[in-house]
Amino acid sequence: MPWCDDCDRFLSPSTVTTDGTCPTCGRTVEVGEVAKAAAEEEEFPPVPWHLKLLAVLIVIYLLYRLFQALAWLVS
Ligand SMILES: [Zn+2]
Repeated sequence: MPWCDDCDRFLSPSTVTTDGTCPTCGRTVEVGEVAKAAAEEEEFPPVPWHLKLLAVLIVIYLLYRLFQALAWLVS
């Protein structure tokens, strides 16, 4: 995955310009030719179960807070 130091973020290979520079700041990004070819073929690893559990708990919590806020609004 190409990484831009200036923007502090990963860039998807399709957003990096053809000459290997960041579309945001124009700086040359670290693509890594071998890693780039491998990354395009490689699939994302499966999401760990505890991350799914965390996501579900966050959604439940946010819904709880949403209903709490709605109950506060109508009271
Ligand atoms: Zn950049």
